[in-house]
Amino acid sequence: MSANIFESIKRVALSCADKVLFHLEDRPDWSYADLIETTSRLSRFLSTEGLRPGDRVLVQAEKSPESIALYLACLQRGLIYVPINTAYTERELSYFIADAEPKLLVVGNATKQIATDIQSYCLNAAGQGSLMDRANEQQALTTIVARQEDDVAAILYTSGTTGRSKGAMITHRNLLSNARVLNRAWRFTEADVLLHALPIYHVHGLFVATHCVLLSGASMIWQTRFDIDRLLDQIPHATVLMGVPTFYFRMINSRRLNKDLVKSMRLFISGSAPLSAQVFQEFESMTGMQVLERYGMSETLMNTSNPYEVERIPGTVGFALPGVEVRIRKAGNEANLVNENGSIELRGPNVFRGYWHMPEKTQAAFTADGFFITGDLGRIDDEGRLSIVGRDKDLVISGGLNVYPAEVETVIDQIAGIAESAIIGAHHDDFGEAVVAIVVSQNEIQLETITTYLTGRLAKFKHPKALVRLNELPKNVMGKVQKNVLREQYGNLFNETE
Ligand code: AMP
Repeated sequence: MSANIFESIKRVALSCADKVLFHLEDRPDWSYADLIETTSRLSRFLSTEGLRPGDRVLVQAEKSPESIALYLACLQRGLIYVPINTAYTERELSYFIADAEPKLLVVGNATKQIATDIQSYCLNAAGQGSLMDRANEQQALTTIVARQEDDVAAILYTSGTTGRSKGAMITHRNLLSNARVLNRAWRFTEADVLLHALPIYHVHGLFVATHCVLLSGASMIWQTRFDIDRLLDQIPHATVLMGVPTFYFRMINSRRLNKDLVKSMRLFISGSAPLSAQVFQEFESMTGMQVLERYGMSETLMNTSNPYEVERIPGTVGFALPGVEVRIRKAGNEANLVNENGSIELRGPNVFRGYWHMPEKTQAAFTADGFFITGDLGRIDDEGRLSIVGRDKDLVISGGLNVYPAEVETVIDQIAGIAESAIIGAHHDDFGEAVVAIVVSQNEIQLETITTYLTGRLAKFKHPKALVRLNELPKNVMGKVQKNVLREQYGNLFNETE
């Protein structure tokens, strides 16, 4: 039996063909039937171009229903969809082209000049010759190429803050199993309207958000980029929001957020970066609703989630999703740890097949018993709730002692006037590394204010030895603080001042 996820998507789409799927901002809405029609024309075009199952289609296109149709057409034809962050320059794009060796390249607009002999198209440019123009000349192609569970459906490039970006091979099984689990865990039904303001070159906006909708027959309000006012305008028409912490931070800082505004909403979900306890609590006091935080990554889709029914606890990312095994280990130690910090390892149908063209990196990323070593550090409590305490490369080792950044950041964030903080290690002659606190604060906060507050709350070796005040923390589009940027800038702070 074929395991192509597109079969499941199409079955749902046919059962609610006339229903609006995409509520669009400045153009007519698209129904499920519109999506399937466009997908089947694109499928015909991809097949007339000679693309064969397993060939890669590399796409760097703006967010639109057509780009979702192109993604689905790739699934339908058994091709491997490779979405690329729209912020990447032409030079960066050349790396992905060389690595993925696509048979077809699709870019968002005609101004991109890419030096390549690969067949390339603009997705939807005004004028002649775009991919959509070509597709619209075609008859629908409805047959679906059979796929095995382990066949690769997509390659997601990791953000690659250190070294080369790696292509995570995501299989049909990964996609289908995770979407089904999430739909059950988060109670998606066809009555739902998801407010979609995330980018779609990333696991969060493409797989998590879009699949939850497509496999439950729900609809979405489609916003091409995140804009806090437009997001708040649409909240009263939605039932679910999936966002990164920045969404929630901006919402609580807007004057418009209150119980009345969110009365149609049943669920607010956050992920991709840590949601601070302060934002969680303020959001709850303003709306009466608890944000549901979950944890996932490009290589594994979603791993854990706070519960739907019972209490959601700020600072934790909840329980392992059904079918997913999560454990905490220390290097060289076989025992699974409880209530102790260590490396987060995962196994389950959600875990990717490996890194494209990088067998050594793939091998190094898995334990002998098949668990994926995430590179995140965490702790599991007695009940089984996971908390993330940092990335292993962000761990600060000061005087031989481990300082887990998230633990210190959480306490610093409680200090009045501090909006956000980031802990990094800076080179220090005495300690090897010393803790540096980088804070966003409205007032002239002093290092002593912070260390006084931490006294009695955290052991002395975790206290910062230097303080940097910034107007904002450097973040990528998914709301992740770019600690590598902070380390580059402040990693030598002690040497400079001495
Ligand atoms: P990406 O592959 O871009 O989705 O990044 C995955 C990484 O984001 C994970 O390995 C975590 O370090 C981080 N991440 C995702 N969700 C959360 C969360 N809820 N809290 C803290 N970090 C998170």
